[in-house]
Amino acid sequence: MDKDVLDATPTMIHNIPQPIFEEYIADKLKFRVEIRKNHSFLELEDFGDHVVTTLEDKNDGSRYRVRSKHVVACDGAKSTVRKFLGIESEGENAYEMMMTIHIDADLRPVLQDRPGMLHWVLDPSVSGFIIAYDLSGNQVLICNFDSDRYPVSAWNEDLCRRVVDAAIGDSVPYPILSYRPWVLSRQVARKYRSGNVFLAGDAAHSFPPTGGLGLNSGLGDVHNLAYKLAAVHQGWGSNSLLDTYELERRQVALVNSQQSVKNGKKIFGFLRTLGITDLDVNVARENLWRRINNNDPEIKKLIDEGVEGQREHFDNLGLHIGYVYGQRIMPENASIFLPIVIPGARLPHAWITTSSLTLPPPINSSYVTELRKKEIELRRFSTLDLIPVDVFTLIVGYHYSDTWSKHLENAKGHLASKMKMRIVVHGKDFEVIQDNYNWVDLMKLDEGQATLVRPDQHILAVLDMDVGAEGIVATMREHLVI
Ligand SMILES: Cc1cc2nc3c(=O)[nH]c(=O)nc-3n(C[C@H](O)[C@H](O)[C@H](O)COP(=O)(O)OP(=O)(O)OC[C@H]3O[C@@H](n4cnc5c(N)ncnc54)[C@H](O)[C@@H]3O)c2cc1C
Repeated sequence: MDKDVLDATPTMIHNIPQPIFEEYIADKLKFRVEIRKNHSFLELEDFGDHVVTTLEDKNDGSRYRVRSKHVVACDGAKSTVRKFLGIESEGENAYEMMMTIHIDADLRPVLQDRPGMLHWVLDPSVSGFIIAYDLSGNQVLICNFDSDRYPVSAWNEDLCRRVVDAAIGDSVPYPILSYRPWVLSRQVARKYRSGNVFLAGDAAHSFPPTGGLGLNSGLGDVHNLAYKLAAVHQGWGSNSLLDTYELERRQVALVNSQQSVKNGKKIFGFLRTLGITDLDVNVARENLWRRINNNDPEIKKLIDEGVEGQREHFDNLGLHIGYVYGQRIMPENASIFLPIVIPGARLPHAWITTSSLTLPPPINSSYVTELRKKEIELRRFSTLDLIPVDVFTLIVGYHYSDTWSKHLENAKGHLASKMKMRIVVHGKDFEVIQDNYNWVDLMKLDEGQATLVRPDQHILAVLDMDVGAEGIVATMREHLVI
């Protein structure tokens, strides 16, 4: 990613080790949510209007029950809840056997002036990649392995060390913190909902890490589900609204899982192009060097195409923020993202300033080293910040704001009072200050169009002036299924 991505989205993709991310989330939630570690799901019973879940405190083996209106199962790819409910998955079981080895090495002397975040290892003795969370210490090597030659039971610290040494290609001391085999597979649950129980994250879908789409897909799930659950709990949305969770999110998982498989296949295909899959290590290495250093235009072309073919693997903004709820298509190219203003799409981003609205804390873009101080100052608030997590927001232009305000006030009189709706006016409440996509034109604010945005930042409806209050009410009722 380069700084231009900040025209499309307020923050770049970040590389954060999962344990650190989980600690961060736990810290943020500590006064709102009780997190019980080492407590395990055993079974549940759904009584229609509530669920009783039986859990085990693994610290002392005691069992207890929890009564709740709903259960959201985020218990990972091997989800016990999914299995308990008998929900099948679609997908393919095994593409490759993979090993993740977590080490704590100082790789800076090895890499010197070529530091990176992701290092591909193209060697016959080990092929895979090293993710460097910190080049001075904290990396994982992820590689495929031949399970006939090295069955899972044969793996121990010595074998891990041989593989890591081969990957680094230099003598570097390090402890092995952990190693874990896993299967490169693609699984998407056939159902995301069973009564009052919902699957989210890897429990609903797991796919190869080739593309880095797993965690964001899970976050997207709960972003979609949370306000719908709130609607039902607070009485302004019907139980059927919860069915839209699966309708919207499952399609995203299908697309992301297929792309992740495609990326994985392309990278292994590229290894074959380089000739390094020969069983004889010396032959394979010779192949590699001969092909890389070859002046034959045909071979050069193949290698160039192989490299270019990896683009979608690493540049996949179209998948991260380009999906449109309600559309059932596989994007032609994962790298292409173009903001659009249609129902189901994410509200397009532009940088804004405001003197009257209370927004979330400002974004600190100073991590983008190419940005000058002035450019960082212009990149503090996004149009996405206009959408509070518990409010439906109508975005309109200044010249049409009086009419739209009246429409909205009238509409609210016909909708549940607990449901929050508000209007924000471009030219009064906020100004667009930095934008390469002509956000105001895209939103047709100068033509009187209003955009109604859901609490999860996706567009619910694009409304013309003549729909009046009735149009807003009808749109909300259809969405909330009331
Ligand atoms: C090698 C590798 C690299 C990856 N790289 C990326 C990447 O770069 N970017 C990205 O976005 N994603 C990546 N992913 C995917 C990402 O790690 C997952 O998508 C993400 O962790 C899923 O989060 P989750 O909370 O749904 O499940 P998990 O992180 O698996 O968490 C599930 C939790 O449920 C708990 N649990 C399990 N069973 C029970 C039970 N019976 N009762 C109670 N609790 C239970 C587990 O202990 C665990 O805490 C990668 C995955 C792998 C394997």
